[in-house]
Amino acid sequence: MSAADGSTLTRATYPIDQPFYDRLIGSRDQFTVVSETVTDHTGYGFRVAAGQAFRLTMLEAPQILDVCMANADDPTEHFFSGAQMTIEGGKITRGIRLWGTPPRSRPIATCIADSVRVQENVRGTRDHFAYGAHCNPHLWHLHAGVHHRPCYDNLRYGYAMLGLSQHAIHDNVNLFQKGAYDPYTGSAMVEESDARRGDHIEFYAEIDLVVSVSLCPNGSGSDGLRESWSESGPLVPVHPIGVTVLDTATRPPAWPPEE
Ligand SMILES: [Zn+2]
Repeated sequence: MSAADGSTLTRATYPIDQPFYDRLIGSRDQFTVVSETVTDHTGYGFRVAAGQAFRLTMLEAPQILDVCMANADDPTEHFFSGAQMTIEGGKITRGIRLWGTPPRSRPIATCIADSVRVQENVRGTRDHFAYGAHCNPHLWHLHAGVHHRPCYDNLRYGYAMLGLSQHAIHDNVNLFQKGAYDPYTGSAMVEESDARRGDHIEFYAEIDLVVSVSLCPNGSGSDGLRESWSESGPLVPVHPIGVTVLDTATRPPAWPPEE
Protein backbone atom coordinates (compact mmCIF):
# COMPACT_ATOMS: atom_id res chain seq x y z
CA MET A 1 0.00 0.00 0.00
CA SER A 2 1.42 3.40 -0.93
CA ALA A 3 0.54 6.67 0.76
CA ALA A 4 -0.30 9.80 -1.23
CA ASP A 5 3.21 11.18 -0.65
CA GLY A 6 4.77 8.09 -2.20
CA SER A 7 5.96 6.55 1.05
CA THR A 8 5.05 2.95 1.79
CA LEU A 9 2.66 2.06 4.60
CA THR A 10 2.95 -1.35 6.17
CA ARG A 11 0.59 -3.06 8.60
CA ALA A 12 2.10 -4.45 11.76
CA THR A 13 2.06 -8.22 11.91
CA TYR A 14 1.58 -10.17 15.12
CA PRO A 15 2.28 -13.84 15.70
CA ILE A 16 -0.58 -16.18 14.86
CA ASP A 17 -0.71 -19.94 14.52
CA GLN A 18 -2.61 -19.82 11.24
CA PRO A 19 -2.78 -23.60 10.71
CA PHE A 20 -4.44 -23.91 14.14
CA TYR A 21 -7.24 -21.52 13.16
CA ASP A 22 -7.59 -23.06 9.70
CA ARG A 23 -8.11 -26.46 11.35
CA LEU A 24 -10.51 -25.00 13.94
CA ILE A 25 -12.65 -23.27 11.30
CA GLY A 26 -12.55 -26.41 9.17
CA SER A 27 -13.96 -28.45 12.06
CA ARG A 28 -16.98 -26.21 12.73
CA ASP A 29 -19.49 -28.81 11.52
CA GLN A 30 -18.27 -31.09 14.32
CA PHE A 31 -18.91 -28.59 17.11
CA THR A 32 -21.56 -29.76 19.59
CA VAL A 33 -24.24 -27.53 21.09
CA VAL A 34 -23.88 -26.88 24.83
CA SER A 35 -26.77 -24.46 25.18
CA GLU A 36 -29.20 -22.57 22.98
CA THR A 37 -31.08 -19.51 24.15
CA VAL A 38 -33.42 -17.11 22.44
CA THR A 39 -33.44 -13.67 23.93
CA ASP A 40 -35.51 -10.65 23.08
CA HIS A 41 -34.55 -9.21 26.41
CA THR A 42 -32.65 -5.98 26.21
CA GLY A 43 -29.55 -7.41 27.90
CA TYR A 44 -28.23 -10.93 28.33
CA GLY A 45 -25.18 -12.35 30.09
CA PHE A 46 -23.54 -15.77 29.76
CA ARG A 47 -20.30 -17.64 30.34
CA VAL A 48 -18.14 -19.38 27.75
CA ALA A 49 -15.29 -21.65 28.75
CA ALA A 50 -11.90 -21.50 27.03
CA GLY A 51 -12.10 -23.75 23.98
CA GLN A 52 -15.85 -23.26 23.59
CA ALA A 53 -17.38 -20.95 21.00
CA PHE A 54 -20.49 -18.80 20.95
CA ARG A 55 -22.73 -17.90 18.04
CA LEU A 56 -25.06 -14.90 17.84
CA THR A 57 -27.84 -15.37 15.27
CA MET A 58 -30.30 -12.91 13.74
CA LEU A 59 -33.57 -14.82 14.15
CA GLU A 60 -35.90 -12.39 12.40
CA ALA A 61 -34.01 -9.36 11.15
CA PRO A 62 -30.71 -7.56 11.77
CA GLN A 63 -30.25 -6.31 15.31
CA ILE A 64 -27.30 -4.21 16.53
CA LEU A 65 -25.50 -6.03 19.32
CA ASP A 66 -23.10 -4.21 21.63
CA VAL A 67 -21.03 -6.94 23.28
CA CYS A 68 -18.64 -6.78 26.25
CA MET A 69 -16.24 -9.65 26.94
CA ALA A 70 -13.95 -10.14 29.92
CA ASN A 71 -11.88 -12.78 31.70
CA ALA A 72 -14.35 -14.82 33.80
CA ASP A 73 -11.80 -15.18 36.62
CA ASP A 74 -10.56 -11.58 36.52
CA PRO A 75 -12.95 -9.16 34.75
CA THR A 76 -10.35 -6.38 35.02
CA GLU A 77 -8.93 -8.10 31.91
CA HIS A 78 -11.38 -7.17 29.17
CA PHE A 79 -11.65 -6.33 25.48
CA PHE A 80 -9.49 -3.28 24.65
CA SER A 81 -10.56 -1.40 21.51
CA GLY A 82 -7.39 0.75 21.45
CA ALA A 83 -5.14 -2.28 21.19
CA GLN A 84 -7.59 -3.81 18.72
CA MET A 85 -7.29 -0.81 16.36
CA THR A 86 -3.49 -0.97 16.55
CA ILE A 87 -3.17 -4.71 16.03
CA GLU A 88 -6.11 -5.81 13.87
CA GLY A 89 -7.84 -2.61 12.74
CA GLY A 90 -11.43 -1.62 13.32
CA LYS A 91 -13.27 -4.30 11.36
CA ILE A 92 -14.33 -7.68 12.73
CA THR A 93 -14.88 -10.72 10.58
CA ARG A 94 -13.64 -14.31 10.32
CA GLY A 95 -9.98 -14.57 11.31
CA ILE A 96 -9.89 -11.41 13.43
CA ARG A 97 -8.75 -11.89 17.04
CA LEU A 98 -10.12 -9.68 19.83
CA TRP A 99 -7.40 -8.36 22.14
CA GLY A 100 -7.54 -7.74 25.87
CA THR A 101 -6.07 -5.21 28.24
CA PRO A 102 -2.56 -5.15 29.76
CA PRO A 103 -0.75 -6.61 31.53
CA ARG A 104 -1.65 -9.86 29.74
CA SER A 105 -2.33 -8.13 26.39
CA ARG A 106 -3.45 -11.31 24.67
CA PRO A 107 -6.24 -12.49 22.39
CA ILE A 108 -9.34 -13.21 24.46
CA ALA A 109 -11.56 -14.39 21.56
CA THR A 110 -11.27 -15.03 17.83
CA CYS A 111 -13.97 -14.60 15.18
CA ILE A 112 -14.31 -17.93 13.38
CA ALA A 113 -17.50 -17.34 11.36
CA ASP A 114 -19.33 -14.36 9.89
CA SER A 115 -22.14 -15.02 7.42
CA VAL A 116 -23.02 -11.38 6.62
CA ARG A 117 -22.61 -10.65 2.91
CA VAL A 118 -21.13 -7.19 2.78
CA GLN A 119 -22.60 -4.73 0.29
CA GLU A 120 -19.33 -3.02 -0.70
CA ASN A 121 -19.45 0.75 -1.06
CA VAL A 122 -17.10 3.69 -1.54
CA ARG A 123 -17.48 4.78 2.08
CA GLY A 124 -15.93 1.52 3.23
CA THR A 125 -18.70 0.79 5.70
CA ARG A 126 -19.39 -2.82 6.69
CA ASP A 127 -20.97 -4.78 9.51
CA HIS A 128 -19.15 -5.46 12.79
CA PHE A 129 -16.61 -3.00 14.18
CA ALA A 130 -14.44 -2.61 17.21
CA TYR A 131 -14.48 1.05 18.20
CA GLY A 132 -18.05 2.22 18.63
CA ALA A 133 -18.48 2.06 22.42
CA HIS A 134 -22.15 1.85 23.47
CA CYS A 135 -25.07 4.21 23.71
CA ASN A 136 -25.69 5.52 27.20
CA PRO A 137 -28.18 7.73 29.04
CA HIS A 138 -26.21 10.90 28.35
CA LEU A 139 -26.03 10.19 24.62
CA TRP A 140 -29.76 9.56 24.39
CA HIS A 141 -30.52 12.78 26.28
CA LEU A 142 -28.29 14.72 23.90
CA HIS A 143 -29.74 13.17 20.74
CA ALA A 144 -33.34 12.44 21.61
CA GLY A 145 -34.09 14.24 24.86
CA VAL A 146 -35.23 10.99 26.48
CA HIS A 147 -33.69 8.21 28.52
CA HIS A 148 -35.29 4.85 28.06
CA ARG A 149 -32.98 1.87 28.19
CA PRO A 150 -29.72 2.35 26.30
CA CYS A 151 -26.98 -0.22 25.72
CA TYR A 152 -25.24 0.83 28.94
CA ASP A 153 -28.25 -0.28 30.98
CA ASN A 154 -28.59 -3.48 28.91
CA LEU A 155 -24.92 -4.37 29.41
CA ARG A 156 -25.33 -3.65 33.12
CA TYR A 157 -28.28 -6.05 33.21
CA GLY A 158 -26.36 -8.73 31.32
CA TYR A 159 -23.41 -8.57 33.67
CA ALA A 160 -25.77 -8.50 36.69
CA MET A 161 -27.02 -11.92 35.51
CA LEU A 162 -23.45 -13.11 36.17
CA GLY A 163 -23.09 -11.33 39.52
CA LEU A 164 -21.01 -8.48 38.10
CA SER A 165 -21.58 -4.77 38.58
CA GLN A 166 -21.58 -1.95 36.04
CA HIS A 167 -17.87 -1.51 36.76
CA ALA A 168 -17.25 -4.56 34.56
CA ILE A 169 -18.51 -2.59 31.53
CA HIS A 170 -15.66 -1.26 29.41
CA ASP A 171 -14.90 -1.30 25.69
CA ASN A 172 -17.24 -3.36 23.55
CA VAL A 173 -17.58 -4.58 19.99
CA ASN A 174 -20.45 -3.43 17.77
CA LEU A 175 -21.86 -6.40 15.88
CA PHE A 176 -24.43 -6.15 13.09
CA GLN A 177 -23.84 -2.41 13.04
CA LYS A 178 -22.55 -1.23 9.68
CA GLY A 179 -20.07 1.59 9.93
CA ALA A 180 -16.66 3.12 9.27
CA TYR A 181 -14.62 6.16 10.16
CA ASP A 182 -14.47 9.00 7.64
CA PRO A 183 -10.73 9.08 6.79
CA TYR A 184 -10.74 12.86 6.41
CA THR A 185 -12.88 14.09 9.29
CA GLY A 186 -12.40 11.15 11.64
CA SER A 187 -16.12 11.11 12.39
CA ALA A 188 -18.00 7.84 12.68
CA MET A 189 -20.44 6.87 9.93
CA VAL A 190 -23.20 4.32 10.50
CA GLU A 191 -25.90 2.90 8.29
CA GLU A 192 -28.37 0.03 8.11
CA SER A 193 -26.90 -3.45 8.57
CA ASP A 194 -26.42 -5.73 5.57
CA ALA A 195 -27.41 -8.77 7.67
CA ARG A 196 -30.40 -10.90 6.79
CA ARG A 197 -32.55 -13.25 8.83
CA GLY A 198 -30.44 -16.25 9.81
CA ASP A 199 -27.09 -14.47 9.60
CA HIS A 200 -24.69 -15.14 12.45
CA ILE A 201 -21.27 -14.39 13.84
CA GLU A 202 -19.24 -16.82 15.91
CA PHE A 203 -16.34 -16.37 18.35
CA TYR A 204 -13.92 -18.91 19.79
CA ALA A 205 -13.07 -18.28 23.46
CA GLU A 206 -9.30 -18.11 23.95
CA ILE A 207 -9.84 -17.83 27.73
CA ASP A 208 -12.78 -18.40 30.10
CA LEU A 209 -15.11 -15.51 29.28
CA VAL A 210 -18.01 -13.61 30.73
CA VAL A 211 -20.07 -12.03 27.94
CA SER A 212 -22.72 -9.33 28.17
CA VAL A 213 -24.85 -8.62 25.09
CA SER A 214 -27.02 -5.56 24.56
CA LEU A 215 -29.83 -5.54 21.98
CA CYS A 216 -29.40 -1.88 21.06
CA PRO A 217 -32.61 0.21 21.03
CA ASN A 218 -31.48 1.46 17.62
CA GLY A 219 -32.66 -1.88 16.18
CA SER A 220 -31.11 -2.76 12.84
CA GLY A 221 -29.07 0.42 12.73
CA SER A 222 -29.05 3.68 10.88
CA ASP A 223 -28.08 7.21 11.73
CA GLY A 224 -31.65 7.88 12.78
CA LEU A 225 -30.77 7.78 16.47
CA ARG A 226 -32.87 10.82 17.23
CA GLU A 227 -35.96 9.28 15.62
CA SER A 228 -35.67 5.82 17.06
CA TRP A 229 -36.99 6.50 20.56
CA SER A 230 -39.60 8.86 21.89
CA GLU A 231 -41.19 9.48 25.26
CA SER A 232 -43.64 6.65 24.53
CA GLY A 233 -41.02 4.02 23.69
CA PRO A 234 -39.12 2.58 20.77
CA LEU A 235 -40.12 3.59 17.26
CA VAL A 236 -37.87 1.01 15.65
CA PRO A 237 -38.29 -2.69 16.38
CA VAL A 238 -35.74 -4.52 18.53
CA HIS A 239 -35.34 -8.04 17.14
CA PRO A 240 -34.77 -11.31 19.05
CA ILE A 241 -31.46 -13.15 18.73
CA GLY A 242 -30.21 -16.67 19.27
CA VAL A 243 -27.26 -17.27 21.61
CA THR A 244 -25.63 -20.67 21.09
CA VAL A 245 -22.68 -21.94 23.13
CA LEU A 246 -20.72 -24.68 21.36
CA ASP A 247 -18.06 -27.16 22.37
CA THR A 248 -15.24 -27.20 19.83
CA ALA A 249 -13.20 -30.03 21.45
CA THR A 250 -10.15 -27.87 20.72
CA ARG A 251 -8.03 -26.31 23.46
CA PRO A 252 -6.73 -22.78 22.80
CA PRO A 253 -3.13 -22.43 21.70
CA ALA A 254 -0.50 -21.37 24.25
CA TRP A 255 0.02 -17.67 24.81
CA PRO A 256 2.53 -16.24 24.20
CA PRO A 257 3.03 -18.50 21.17
CA GLU A 258 5.74 -21.10 21.49
CA GLU A 259 8.65 -20.65 19.08
ZN1 LIG B 1 -27.02 1.11 21.73
